[in-house]
Amino acid sequence: MQVALSVTLLGTGTPLPDPNRAGPATLVRAGSRNFLFDAGRGVLMRAAAAGVNASQFEAILLTHLHSDHTTDLNDVITTSWTRQFAPAEIQVYGPPGTALLVERTLTMLAQDIEWRRTHHADLGWDPAVEVSETAEGTVIESGGLRIGAAPTEHRPVHPTVGYRIQTAEGSVVIAGDTKPCEGLDRLCAGADIYVQTVIRRDQVEALQIPRLKDILDYHSDLEDAGRTATRAGVRTLVLTHQAPLPIPGTEDEWVSQAAAHFDGEIVFGDDLTTVVA
Ligand SMILES: [Zn+2]
Ligand SMILES: [Zn+2]
Repeated sequence: MQVALSVTLLGTGTPLPDPNRAGPATLVRAGSRNFLFDAGRGVLMRAAAAGVNASQFEAILLTHLHSDHTTDLNDVITTSWTRQFAPAEIQVYGPPGTALLVERTLTMLAQDIEWRRTHHADLGWDPAVEVSETAEGTVIESGGLRIGAAPTEHRPVHPTVGYRIQTAEGSVVIAGDTKPCEGLDRLCAGADIYVQTVIRRDQVEALQIPRLKDILDYHSDLEDAGRTATRAGVRTLVLTHQAPLPIPGTEDEWVSQAAAHFDGEIVFGDDLTTVVA
């Protein structure tokens, strides 16, 4: 059976609020199945624009636990739970540390959960979150779809993972925040779509702001992303979570820095940009 595989960028922004870019989050659809990768600021607003509501995510998969990638996880949990008409587990996957993050998120939500249960007689259960921590290997395998994880390099944030979604129709890699590394190369080998969070080195270096310059240490810049794409032989490189916030009209400059090292298709991502595998 043909099952279309596609990627929709739900948020391409940085930690700095921007009216046109939500926080980092990516939707992967395989037929009618929806998988959410990271849950940055405004994720459910963008998911609604993509036609998906919180209870329609089969799983939420976190690349790492930086706050800009997880800040709306609490919204995903609450909004999914309050739409339930029977108890259902919310499936969350992520690197070691994810269970503690979820536990603390539920602690933060405890008073709200109590008030909603007191007020709604038919909501007779707490949100149930099933957490599976993973550093490497198969995360989900069912119905002709496999999601695998491999370690990435974003220290001092550690451990971190990237994911590869594989179906008979194609493959998508959600790299997350990472420098080029062996785990990333393995995930990307021969992939149709490689989604990479990127920084633009020339602009970061020109800004002379030490706290911003620090981001050069633990991200892929555009040239790194192009080199990884070439090494792995991917078809399409998708640029997301671009930092510093891109100035409208400069998209071609961003693409050309990656294109200096990659001959394939390069997509400069905006919120709700969709690419089919
Ligand atoms: Zn980030
Ligand atoms: Zn990060």
